[in-house]
Amino acid sequence: MSALLEARGLVKSFGPFRAVDGVDLVLESGEMLAMIGPNGAGKSTCFNLINGQLAPDAGTVFLTGREITGQPPHRLARQGLARTFQVAATFGSMSVAENVEAALCVAAGRGASLWPGGRRRYRAQALDLLERVGIAAQAERQCGLLAYGDLKRVDLALALAQTPKVLLMDEPTAGMAPGERAQLMDLVSEIARDGAIAVLFTEHDMDVVFGHARRIVVLDRGQVLTVGAPDQVRDDPRVREIYLGPDLEESC
Ligand code: ADP
Ligand code: MG
Repeated sequence: MSALLEARGLVKSFGPFRAVDGVDLVLESGEMLAMIGPNGAGKSTCFNLINGQLAPDAGTVFLTGREITGQPPHRLARQGLARTFQVAATFGSMSVAENVEAALCVAAGRGASLWPGGRRRYRAQALDLLERVGIAAQAERQCGLLAYGDLKRVDLALALAQTPKVLLMDEPTAGMAPGERAQLMDLVSEIARDGAIAVLFTEHDMDVVFGHARRIVVLDRGQVLTVGAPDQVRDDPRVREIYLGPDLEESC
């Protein structure tokens, strides 16, 4: 295994408050790494530092060995760092297939993504991706009319349109029913494995975390408390005490 993404010593303060305080991370090819920790631990801020949404005060980020610190999201997307959004970033009035065609068009560096003639050449590729995420049957439906779980799959297809090496998913299953969450994360695991994509995700549902992560990194007040295999993290008394408590779902 080789490191696809590496973060070293990331720091970010908001005023006097250090939201992220010296975070190191390594993400390897094909692996699912879950980041957990209580609300306010700094998970989303970490993601934003990695994907270029925010510039770190200190620290460096490497993608496939090359430093990418502080580069804007669209440049990172072209280098293989994709993300999904908590609220799927689709055009509601366009069909599912049209949304994916537009994403493929942008990924190919063609700006006129909303122009039908420009994007239609990506139809076959879009349908392949929709097949991959299990919603090919919905290809012609307007995105705005989709059920929430299906919209999450479209969002995943939009991220995959960038042929990412690394995929960041901040709370990918938020708002989904428990059964749907497991299905979506099964699919993500399969895609990560088959495409040798590294996935970093945050998640509140501990069944999803322990069922799908190969490793788990626990964040506590902006710092990495521990990182390890699910069993190791589950058995760590500090983790149990601070994050998991008697009821895994409620305290994380
Ligand atoms: P998590 O995702 O683990 O819940 P966040 O990274 O969203 O945590 O937030 C970490 C801390 O940083 C929180 O206390 C939050 O209020 C604060 N924070 C996050 N973003 C900002 C911001 N843009 N301005 C000020 N404070 C922020
Ligand atoms: Mg968050």
